[in-house]
Amino acid sequence: MCPDTNADQSVPPLPPQPPPAFSPPVPPSFPRRRARSRGPLPFLALGCGGALLLALLIGGAVIGGLYAGSKVVDPVVDAFLQQVNDGRFGEAYAGLHPRFRETTPPEQFELFMRGVVDALGPYTSKSIRGINVNSANGVTTTVATYAMTFERGTATGTFTLTNGQIVRFDIDSPLVRSALECPHCGQTLDAFGNFCPHCGKPLTEAEETV
Ligand SMILES: [Zn+2]
Repeated sequence: MCPDTNADQSVPPLPPQPPPAFSPPVPPSFPRRRARSRGPLPFLALGCGGALLLALLIGGAVIGGLYAGSKVVDPVVDAFLQQVNDGRFGEAYAGLHPRFRETTPPEQFELFMRGVVDALGPYTSKSIRGINVNSANGVTTTVATYAMTFERGTATGTFTLTNGQIVRFDIDSPLVRSALECPHCGQTLDAFGNFCPHCGKPLTEAEETV
């Protein structure tokens, strides 16, 4: 059984208070109203101002990021494309990131670039479409996407740079894709090469005459 704890705790009612002899004056309403209006308004103003500032900062960061990023990537990509245009494939290859050169021999690179130029013609211009900059452990990796124009058509170019050197690139275009079709068996090739990996027939004119 629970003991009835409330039983002995009833407080005796307070004796009726005598009315105050002096009632304090009602504070003037003007300052009070001002004090009240000071409450939510500055908050709202700060909220709106803050949101606007944040939007400006985000917008600025996106545009600034695109601009700053492309300012770093553009000269590297431009120099590379100029070298390819000039047929200076060895120079273009030498400027690529060592990791690219470790996995792709110069002959394969030259075959691919010749294939691109054969399919699209010389490169004429590009405009940045997107950029992604990632920094970790002192390594900055930037992926830039361009809408590229060549003499015979357009392409989407994606260039990945590590610490300012092209480590990976892709030039995608229907013209390049159709050029990557074996003329003998019609299979689509993964890359330009001397021989078709599907039918084994030579893919370059030079090889064909041998
Ligand atoms: Zn084939």
